[in-house]
Formats: sequence, structure tokens, C-alpha cells
Amino acid sequence: MGRLDGKVALITGGARGMGASHAELFIKEGAKVVITDILDGSETAKRLGDHCKYIQHDVTKREDWEKVVKETEETFGPISVLINNAGIARFAPWESRTDEDYDQHYRINQLGVYLGMQITAPSMIKTGKGSMINISSIAGLFGSAGLMAYTATKFAVRGMTKVAALDWGQYGIRVNSIHPGVIRTPMTMENPNVDVSLVEQMGETVALGRIADPIEVSNLALFLASDESSYSTGAEFVIDGGQTAKY
Ligand code: NAD
Repeated sequence: MGRLDGKVALITGGARGMGASHAELFIKEGAKVVITDILDGSETAKRLGDHCKYIQHDVTKREDWEKVVKETEETFGPISVLINNAGIARFAPWESRTDEDYDQHYRINQLGVYLGMQITAPSMIKTGKGSMINISSIAGLFGSAGLMAYTATKFAVRGMTKVAALDWGQYGIRVNSIHPGVIRTPMTMENPNVDVSLVEQMGETVALGRIADPIEVSNLALFLASDESSYSTGAEFVIDGGQTAKY
């Protein structure tokens, strides 16, 4: 018996990185999963088999969200789990941060999460149950130099999570945020904006002495998606190898 038997999960940014890892684990645990991404995720969905469907989706667009929720319900039934995972991160000093760059972080990392929760909630309300998991970051807990736009959005995600938890607890919807430290994904390892040699070095400074693999975050997402976390809502789940323990 799988820990997610009978559940339908919608995971944004699921073509690669942590989103793809969450999808793979959820399917192993019995869920049916829709992955969405602005990138082509059809190869990922094919690899994950018949219980996975890919839908092209820009999380900043309301009409895309409406289409995704409708198609997910038509394919697999009402949504039980939403992971707002899609995101971008760009380091930039103050003097070179443009309005367009700031706005793009806001639209993808913050507005996308808001739209996802708002447009998915009715599907969960229908069944009287659901788990929303918003991927923030340890950058949503303390300041990180050079990451103004990203940090603003990740703090916002943490706050929005708490409001949604308060508003929707009455419908059986739980809403929690995950705050990863440094994880080995394309965002950190293939990002022209990030010095890759520094990424592994950052791992040496945390209590566990290393950065993490996506599956380690997926295991936490699995707990929050499953009924095992039935009394957790509005909470912050930090997974950072001890990086924030010193703050
Ligand atoms: P990733 O870059 O591998 O995955 C992010 C995905 O989001 C990509 O597939 C990308 O195409 C998608 N995406 C971007 N804009 C989109 C849009 N407008 N609509 C739909 N999809 C879009 O990165 P990841 O590390 O797997 O990141 C997943 C989440 O984890 C992000 O929210 C990120 O901020 C967060 N996070 C990552 C780390 C880390 O160290 N990797 C740490 C903390 C938090």
C-alpha cells in the first residue's frame, strides 16, 4: 500500500529539479500526478509512466491555471495535493537589478503561488480535504546578500501560507511551507547566474557538511502530502542540513 494511494497531485515546475523528484516519489507512493512547467516536461512525464501527465503552464497566467485545474480534474479527478514549486532565482547587486527582473521574480515566485492556491482551492473544497505545499526557501527566513527580489518573494510565500491555512482550515485544507537550504538542482548547478564552484563549498559551512539531493526534500513533501501530517497546517518546515541552526 502506498502512502499516497488515491491522491491526485498537481506539481508546478515539474519538468526537472525538485518538482520532477517530488513527482517520481509521489507516483511510487500511489498518487496520480500532473506536472506543469513553462519548459517542455513531456519527456519527464513519459519516464514517470501512465500515472503522470504533463501540461504546459505559465504560473503567472490565471487562464493557464484555470486550464490546468480543469484538465487535471478531467484526467485524474479532484486535486488532493498542490505543490507550488515553480520558481526562479537570480543574484544581482542593487545597481544592476532592473524593474523587469524584480517584477519577473514577483510574478513567478509570488503571484504564481497566490493564483495556484486560489484556483485550486475549489477542487479541494469539493472533497473536504487537501494539502497545499508552498516551496519557499531558507531565503524566506533570513536575509541573503544579493538576493533582494528572490528573498522578497520567499518571505511573501511564507506569509501567504499562514493566511491560507487560517482561511481554509474550515474546509479541511492544510497549507504549509517548505524552506530548503542548498539543493543540487539545475537552479543551483546549471544557473549562469550562480558560481557553481561556490555551491558545493556552501555545503561545507552547514552542520551536516554538505548540500542535499532533491529526494531528501521530496521525502518531506511526501509527509506533508500524505495524511500522516494531518495536524500540520500554517507551519514552516525547514530542510537545510542545519544551515539556519546558528541564527
Ligand atoms: P529548477 O530551476 O530546477 O526548477 C524550477 C522549475 O520552475 C523549472 O523547471 C522552471 O522551468 C519552472 N518555471 C520557471 N518559471 C516558470 C513559470 N513562469 N511557469 C511554470 N514553471 C516555471 O529549480 P529547483 O531548485 O528545482 O527549484 C524548485 C523550487 O525550490 C523553487 O521554488 C526554488 O526557489 C526553490 N528552492 C530551491 C533551492 C535550491 O537550492 N535548489 C533552495 C531553496 C528553494
